[in-house]
Amino acid sequence: MLEGKTFYIHTFGCQMNVNDSEHLASLLLAEGASPASRLEESDFILINTCAVREKSVEKLFSYLGRLKEYKEKRKAVIVCLGCVAQLYRQELLKKFPYLDLVVGPHQYAAVPSLLKNLAEERKILTAWKRGWTDLPILPESRESRVSAYVTIMEGCNNFCSFCVVPFVRGREKYRPLRSILDEVRALADRGYLEIHLLGQNVNSYRDPESGTRLPELLEKVSSIPGIEWVRFLTSHPKDFGPELVEAMASIPKVCHQLHLPLQSGSDRILALMNRKYTREEYLEKIESLKSRMPDISLSTDIIVGFPTETEDDFQQTIEMVEKIKFTSIFSFRYSPRPRTAASRLKDDVPEEVKIDRLIRLQSRQKEIQLELHRQLVGQKMNVLCSGPSKKGNLHAGRNEAYQVINFYSPVDVSNRLVTVRITGYGPYSLQGELED
Ligand code: SAH
Ligand code: SF4
Repeated sequence: MLEGKTFYIHTFGCQMNVNDSEHLASLLLAEGASPASRLEESDFILINTCAVREKSVEKLFSYLGRLKEYKEKRKAVIVCLGCVAQLYRQELLKKFPYLDLVVGPHQYAAVPSLLKNLAEERKILTAWKRGWTDLPILPESRESRVSAYVTIMEGCNNFCSFCVVPFVRGREKYRPLRSILDEVRALADRGYLEIHLLGQNVNSYRDPESGTRLPELLEKVSSIPGIEWVRFLTSHPKDFGPELVEAMASIPKVCHQLHLPLQSGSDRILALMNRKYTREEYLEKIESLKSRMPDISLSTDIIVGFPTETEDDFQQTIEMVEKIKFTSIFSFRYSPRPRTAASRLKDDVPEEVKIDRLIRLQSRQKEIQLELHRQLVGQKMNVLCSGPSKKGNLHAGRNEAYQVINFYSPVDVSNRLVTVRITGYGPYSLQGELED
């Protein structure tokens, strides 16, 4: 047992990492350890990492650099987990001599016993698993009381040329349908209202036992009493078919909101990225979504400065952004990642050009968001309130379109689905008032 011991988990990266950290916390809680509110007070410091971009690794390295002090003062055990652990292994131990353990994404179940039997010798555990392994999740380890992440698959078979994910998470592994439904039922019983089904490539989900695909899974999750909103992430445009459009349009609890990474608006760059769709094909999917759900909220990921990207290629990306009018975009400067096909191409777009394109893309998108937000003033909408807002005495939450809303309410409506009237806006959030 780990009774009397405290732990602190710091998470870098995406929602899947947040969910993995929730599992990790459950494994430690089950052994009697308790969470420390501050890193300075913990016996075990666990860092869950992201390797997807060079910048995320740089941030991690500077964080790990600062941990040396805690090691000296408190003799805390420091564990580096997740994608960077899988990718850099021995190099991490060399660079940070005070790290105790390096654990890849498939080895979390081993963490409690590694911590119980700490050896003198520092350990690296990065063996891959070929099938799905269920990890426990305790209610107290969840970050939210109303909105839950539920992982349905892990890994990726797509090998987009820029992406390190297939090399750190391995090939696709699908979680059995009954295990997903058991988890969602338990969440609904505890009062959870919103479910985010997660995976690197959820469109290829297939129940290993019955072969059930994502559209049917959405149907089953939505029919669990108590669940109000169901979302799924991330979708790959090449696998996004008419059955899924139909499921989104016809199942009332599936939010009319979709994250569909475009990456580039140029066919030449898309081919170099190995994305397996053209801009026309992407636009056709958007058209079919918009014609079936005129209120659909779309978001995307875009990379600028991929090798050989010209100003003309970049303009084609801008054109797509202007045409589609995404609710939000996540945009990144290309950085070469170890082992990927694109890392063998010359990273020939100068850094200042990448920065300039990123700024131009983001400022165009900012104008689009302002315009979209302006049109919402006066409308009433459902908002799932997550708690007090970051600033002032307002509440914060998200609507079905997944936009951030800060609103005034005379009473505490945290963790409730409420109606809000929109009264104002900025480029990245809306403001409103509770409707009674
Ligand atoms: N599975 C998702 C997301 C993977 S990573 C998908 O299919 O799109 C999240 C985002 O990081 C990607 O969509 C991409 O826009 C960005 N990204 C991945 N590798 C990158 C790299 N080498 N340089 C810059 N951005 C990258
Ligand atoms: Fe990476 Fe492409 Fe797989 Fe997404 S679909 S995780 S970008 S390889």
